[in-house]
Amino acid sequence: MPPLAPAGRFAPSPTGDLHLGNLRTALLAWLFARSTGRRFLIRVEDLDRVRAGSAARQLADLAAIGLTWDGPVTYQSERRTAYDAALATLMSADLTYECYCTRREIAEAASAPQDDRGKAGLPNAYPGTCRNLTEEERAARRSAGREPAIRLRSRTASYSVRDHYAGEFTGAVDDVVLRRNDGVPAYNLAVVVDDAAQGIDQVVRGDDLLASAPRQAYLAHLLGLPEPTYAHVPLALGPAGERLAKRDGAVTLADLAPTGMTPARVLCLLAVSLHMAEPGEHVTAEALLARFDPDALPREPWVVQPLVPRTP
Ligand code: GLU
Repeated sequence: MPPLAPAGRFAPSPTGDLHLGNLRTALLAWLFARSTGRRFLIRVEDLDRVRAGSAARQLADLAAIGLTWDGPVTYQSERRTAYDAALATLMSADLTYECYCTRREIAEAASAPQDDRGKAGLPNAYPGTCRNLTEEERAARRSAGREPAIRLRSRTASYSVRDHYAGEFTGAVDDVVLRRNDGVPAYNLAVVVDDAAQGIDQVVRGDDLLASAPRQAYLAHLLGLPEPTYAHVPLALGPAGERLAKRDGAVTLADLAPTGMTPARVLCLLAVSLHMAEPGEHVTAEALLARFDPDALPREPWVVQPLVPRTP
């Protein structure tokens, strides 16, 4: 098979409507891909919780601000076979183990002062409790009714990626979950399998995921898959300085429509926030493409002042 033409992507989780921060990240992913001649793909990450109708509304909102994408949208829920195959590859290379820990046990162990991995800069790094269980210990846990998750048996404590903004970024790699104990493939495995299968060599997403990039790239390496380059972009924050959320007021296209903020005006608002347009200026996504310079973007988070005050 000829290699796939390189691509960028936006990969929303369909848990609710996209807010201004999500739309801004999608716009940036689109600008990065299109300005470098890449295909632009949308992947719906629906392995986990989904809200009915959410994926369709997210796609409609992306189209409404002028983003276009290539080919059909991919749904992770339809790609279980590919994740199972990747897991089988890792299992047969002795790169996995069963983990019987509950979330609570992990949280307690990871915050224990003697634990080094927990301090390695990766939130919720797994301390390796189940890594060396004997067959008897595993059997005891199984007979207590616990279903195991499958974890990576990592052979490194850290790994490096290239990020457009962070440069050469080295971060912790822990024994990340590959399949959850309810049988669902874990995000970190699915994202790696999908990016490679779709020819995605440029990952643009919120900088809350920068810490996850090294372990994802390491997984790609173990699976013999190409490692993408990254651009982790600043997030949008609410007025209190926390990550923007629905409770901050009118932050989705649906909330904003009654205030007179059409999708076209929202695009202009995003462009102003990216220092790519003057306040009041009318721009289209295509016009932004012509003036896109990734090195001229603001590096600090965008603090959003929602248009409609929060209702008590
Ligand atoms: N689905 C993830 C999210 O919505 C994004 C994953 C990614 O871009 O790698 O946060």
